[in-house]
Amino acid sequence: SAAHTANAAANPLMPGVKNTIAVASGKGGVGKSTVSVNLAVALAKDGAKVGLIDADVYGPSIPLMLGIDKNPRIYQDPQTGKMLPLESYGIKTISIGFLIDEDSPVIWRGPMASGAIKQFMTDVNWGELDYLIFDLPPGTGDIQLTLVQSIPLSGAVIVTTPQDISLVDVKKAIRMFQKVNVPVLGIVENMSYFIAPDTGKKYELFGSGGGEKLSKEFSAPLLGKIPINPDIRVGGDYGKPIVISNPGAEEAKIIREIARNL
Ligand code: ADP
Repeated sequence: SAAHTANAAANPLMPGVKNTIAVASGKGGVGKSTVSVNLAVALAKDGAKVGLIDADVYGPSIPLMLGIDKNPRIYQDPQTGKMLPLESYGIKTISIGFLIDEDSPVIWRGPMASGAIKQFMTDVNWGELDYLIFDLPPGTGDIQLTLVQSIPLSGAVIVTTPQDISLVDVKKAIRMFQKVNVPVLGIVENMSYFIAPDTGKKYELFGSGGGEKLSKEFSAPLLGKIPINPDIRVGGDYGKPIVISNPGAEEAKIIREIARNL
């Protein structure tokens, strides 16, 4: 990893941050937040200084996935007056979920949501980071546009399922990054297959070939294929990412490999 340090110092909003990586998807529910969290924790386990911004204002799930309190106290850095990020599993994080009431639906209009993402970059004391990862909302809305216009992103990781239906939207997302010259670091195909624990038989529940197809069409590497494993879901719900809860699991190995190839 650390292949993108060429972009270091080109980030006017966060001069201490070396690499900024957006994790994006065409639609929701494909495992974008799961991949963001596990990649962030895997990079930190490998010794990198990592931050994670939960920019998915419409469904902030990072606090839950990192086992952070619903309404944590956010402290200010006395010197700069900036918000101090929270820490979990060795990564620094901030989420729109920390700032809003969990039970009230977020019906912010574009400008407010874009304001929040800007604030996460300028009003949070990130300090020195090797990687700052953005868990974006699905699709190609205001938040994505604000982000790509605010800083020169080092790259984007695209998460998809093998299913064709998710590919229409995901292509739009990839084209958005390419249009503004953000390198697409690669495709992560999630929920690629399921191995029945009793028989060892492989089931391709959401079809197959989506990741390969995208990779070919956009000349972006297929970074990895993550199977369906109920432990991943449980890990998300209980705030213990699989790279922590079960580092020997095949899925954890695949995720660590993806992190190393970023
Ligand atoms: P998104 O961020 O794309 O909306 P999430 O990361 O929130 O998606 O994932 C949606 C749900 O699917 C969550 O409950 C998550 O734990 C689960 N999940 C994600 N990837 C996997 C996987 N490979 N195997 C099993 N469950 C998964």
